[in-house]
Amino acid sequence: MKFAMIGAGAMGLRYGILLQEAGNDVTFIDTWQPHIDKIREQGGVYQMRDHKDRHLVHIKLETPESYDGDPDMLIFFTKQMQLADYLKRCSHFFNDKQYAFTCMNGMGHIEKLQQYFADDKIIGGTALIATVLPGPGEVDFMGKRGAGKMNMCPLNEKPDEMTHRLFDELQKAGMNPTLTDDFTGTLMTKVIFNSVINTICTMFELPMGEFGNFPGAYEMSRQLIDEAYDICARADIHLVSTRKEEMAALDRNTRIDMPLHYPSMYQDMIKDRPTEVDYINGYIAQLGRKYHYEAKTHLFVTQAVHLAEFHRQNL
Ligand code: NAD
Repeated sequence: MKFAMIGAGAMGLRYGILLQEAGNDVTFIDTWQPHIDKIREQGGVYQMRDHKDRHLVHIKLETPESYDGDPDMLIFFTKQMQLADYLKRCSHFFNDKQYAFTCMNGMGHIEKLQQYFADDKIIGGTALIATVLPGPGEVDFMGKRGAGKMNMCPLNEKPDEMTHRLFDELQKAGMNPTLTDDFTGTLMTKVIFNSVINTICTMFELPMGEFGNFPGAYEMSRQLIDEAYDICARADIHLVSTRKEEMAALDRNTRIDMPLHYPSMYQDMIKDRPTEVDYINGYIAQLGRKYHYEAKTHLFVTQAVHLAEFHRQNL
């Protein structure tokens, strides 16, 4: 299959390199000039796994302006606030046969994709796969091959031949995909998951295991989970995990699966980049307002992350 990875950051590189190794034709498209320059100078990307086995992987890299290919599938892995600009700059090679797939965190991206792609060509998903970009031209895949997992669902909830082909390629690439049947429920379940771990670990600058092992972690998580689940009940969103399952997944993920990992919002903050908090906790609070529910804790932690960003910028 022919793929274009729109955004060759941590996740774009992880999905793209593994799809390339599984035998697909992959082109990476990026706009961050120091990263582009480094990849060109090195002749590829240095890839590690859990900080070890650093080796060069050759990739095809283009900018939105230089690319003129016709991929079957565009995979979007930008940060939420970068997506509109990427879509605008890449739109010259979009056509109505192509599919758009993404496992970005947060909410707001699907409406932006809908401005360029028909609903039956959009496939969304979520990824529980930790990846770090230590600097330009370098990527670190956290966890053993096949350790993470992901969900995917077409926007119209009617999987077609292309959905199944994508599923097969992701499976060959070791991403452990599950095809779900509720689009919004699948995405929102991950937004809620991130609204706890990503946010708290970013505010307090903690690796995930430190939060998971904190005796008050259950109470803090429960508060955020309850608000978000109450809002989703009002909005008639059918989450793919119960509150109990979500709490158990948070506990397992922080204490057992990735105790040493710092979530991506933290990694953005320490590099003085804006975080995605407005698209995670901010989105939950905004959805609450629509249904006359004041998500006080989500509103508070949204501002707390902005305060942490503000503090960093003033250091
Ligand atoms: P990323 O920041 O690594 O890359 C996104 C874009 O930002 C790329 O175009 C990259 O070149 C550019 N970029 C990276 N560092 C930059 C810098 N210092 N200055 C300017 N530009 C820079 O993002 P990601 O981690 O690949 O995340 C993409 C999406 O996937 C997000 O929505 C994220 O929340 C989600 N996600 C990430 C992970 C993870 O472990 N990284 C896991 C699941 C979901």
